[in-house]
Amino acid sequence: RAKHMGRQRFEFCTSELTAQARYKLVLQEGLQQALDDKQLQLYYQPIASTSTGKVQGAEALLRWIHPKVGMVRPRDFIPLLEQTGLIIPVGEWVIEQACQQWSLWKQQGLLEEKALLTLNISTCQFSSQQLLNCIGNMMIKFDMPAKTLALEVSEELLNTNPKHLSETFSQLNQMGVDIIIDDFGLGSTSLHSLSKYTLSAIKLEKPLLASLSKSKNGNSLKAFSFLAHSLNVNMIAEGIDDKNQLRTLAAANIDSYQGYSLSPALEAAEFKQFMSLQNENENKVKLFY
Ligand code: C2E
Ligand code: MG
Ligand code: MG
Ligand code: MG
Repeated sequence: RAKHMGRQRFEFCTSELTAQARYKLVLQEGLQQALDDKQLQLYYQPIASTSTGKVQGAEALLRWIHPKVGMVRPRDFIPLLEQTGLIIPVGEWVIEQACQQWSLWKQQGLLEEKALLTLNISTCQFSSQQLLNCIGNMMIKFDMPAKTLALEVSEELLNTNPKHLSETFSQLNQMGVDIIIDDFGLGSTSLHSLSKYTLSAIKLEKPLLASLSKSKNGNSLKAFSFLAHSLNVNMIAEGIDDKNQLRTLAAANIDSYQGYSLSPALEAAEFKQFMSLQNENENKVKLFY
């Protein structure tokens, strides 16, 4: 019987693996096609000030609209892009596409001149000089002022070659490009790295935010935020899906937030609508006072 069950389980496992492997294969085979056919699309998730609620910018998030599978989330295809090296051309496409969109929205008066655009950059993209050239070119081509473009990088990047990293970061700083540590709290960033590099902000990852908010009535979050600010690093909270969390964030001086309670990532046309509404409301407030 045990033998029988063993075999059943074995068969169950292999068929499950096969389905997953098949899915991966479908995605992998479709990647080049996706690039050629423009199946990749950027969505934009608004980022707002915690104290005033005003939208300060947005994070560009990649989506793959697959003709057969439908919308594929980044966690299912970014690793494939990284493994195949396709992340380099795709990453460059993201930079160009987002900067172009941003400058268009500014021309249309939808965004303020100083509105911040943040882009996610994979660790392996950072090893190429190509990245700096691409960013520099796009900033010129689309007239992006200093301090309006930020790169979101993961904590693991801070563990790569420190000399190369310092050089790259300082070049980016000279170009007026900010660095944000994304998903802070998943890795093992030391206080030393936080003070050594010129970082503009850290994005607190959801579980860490939750535990810091709970411990000692949020005193841990306050202390952490105080520490970050003393190192000239801003704090951004992500995954805020409940408006009630905002009071805790404001009490701890967390600068900005994003999450479903403000808005999910939006298609370009939806983002435009969202911003128009924001701007309208703000004008109403101005008229009223
Ligand atoms: P991330 O940069 O940490 O992005 C945050 C993720 O949380 C996004 O998922 C976003 O849609 C989701 N999210 C936003 N608000 C909420 C909320 O209130 N609650 C919850 N539970 N989730 C929320 P998404 O779009 O699936 O992106 C996943 C990851 O893929 C991103 O994590 C980022 O690391 C990566 N990624 C996305 N676009 C790019 C890209 O252009 N290049 C690279 N290299 N990576 C990218
Ligand atoms: Mg991010
Ligand atoms: Mg994140
Ligand atoms: Mg988010």
